Amino acid sequence: RGVVLTAGGFIANKEMVARYAPETSRANWRVGTDNDDGSGIQMAQSVGADAIRMEAASITIPLYPPKSICAGVLVNASGQRFLNEDAYAGQIGQQALFRQNGRCWHLLDADSYVVNEAFMEAKVVEETWEELEAALKLPEGSLVSTMDLYNRHAERGEDPIFHKRSSLVRPLTKPPFGALDVTVEGSIYAAFTLGGLHTLPTGEVLRSDGSAIAGLYAAGRTTSGVSAFGYVSGASLADGMIFGRMAATSAVARVRST
Ligand SMILES: Cc1cc2nc3c(=O)[nH]c(=O)nc-3n(C[C@H](O)[C@H](O)[C@H](O)COP(=O)(O)OP(=O)(O)OC[C@H]3O[C@@H](n4cnc5c(N)ncnc54)[C@H](O)[C@@H]3O)c2cc1C
Repeated sequence: RGVVLTAGGFIANKEMVARYAPETSRANWRVGTDNDDGSGIQMAQSVGADAIRMEAASITIPLYPPKSICAGVLVNASGQRFLNEDAYAGQIGQQALFRQNGRCWHLLDADSYVVNEAFMEAKVVEETWEELEAALKLPEGSLVSTMDLYNRHAERGEDPIFHKRSSLVRPLTKPPFGALDVTVEGSIYAAFTLGGLHTLPTGEVLRSDGSAIAGLYAAGRTTSGVSAFGYVSGASLADGMIFGRMAATSAVARVRST
């Protein structure tokens, strides 16, 4: 009379990831267990449930710790910065994969260089930014102009473009200059899925016409909850706990009333 599905996401189901979240299939590190196989989602779909935001995923790149590595500059295939390098690691990962096509390099000078706790080391080292730009096959002049602008503001400890914390902003001028490979092929991109069944806050599972399937409830990564396109550490666990309780409460209330 009442079923609550809480069977996790689908990162372990290659076919589902390829079909619903193809960009995430490029991520090389699975965050979850073998049982994140999408079976909960599929069971509900077999009785007419709708699944939404299936392309959403948490993508984490372990650029830091240590935080001091954020003094470097993260650039895309156009030699441009695209966020503050001290951003949440999941934000870096999602932007890198979904918006920058997984083509990124983290650049450091001799003073800021450090091997991070994921053992990421410089793959390319050159004596000037111009040489590094050429070695990374970035558009001519792109990285040189990015570094010129960054360093000009960094002289004052400022990052008016992306507002990196000022304690991490200083000119990157001491050679040699190194590039960490943050491409999707060369770095860890750790992923788990965030899309899933369309539910109400009560946990009721919806069909695509918006009607609820009587007696069927779901929560956590089997659903598309508050974490889809809004994930930060803790959000998934809180989502599962809070809406799991609400789904169970709804199911019990239904059983008692029928
Ligand atoms: C290393 C790591 C670190 C993480 N850090 C964070 C963090 O800091 N903050 C955060 O919010 N989230 C974090 N997460 C993600 C978070 O743990 C998951 O998103 C969360 O556990 C999902 O909860 P859930 O109950 O939906 O699914 P799960 O915890 O995956 O539980 C689903 C359960 O259902 C079982 N199951 C699956 N299919 C079936 C079936 N067909 N029949 C019966 N049982 C089935 C599974 O075995 C499992 O026990 C992390 C995950 C990992 C792996």
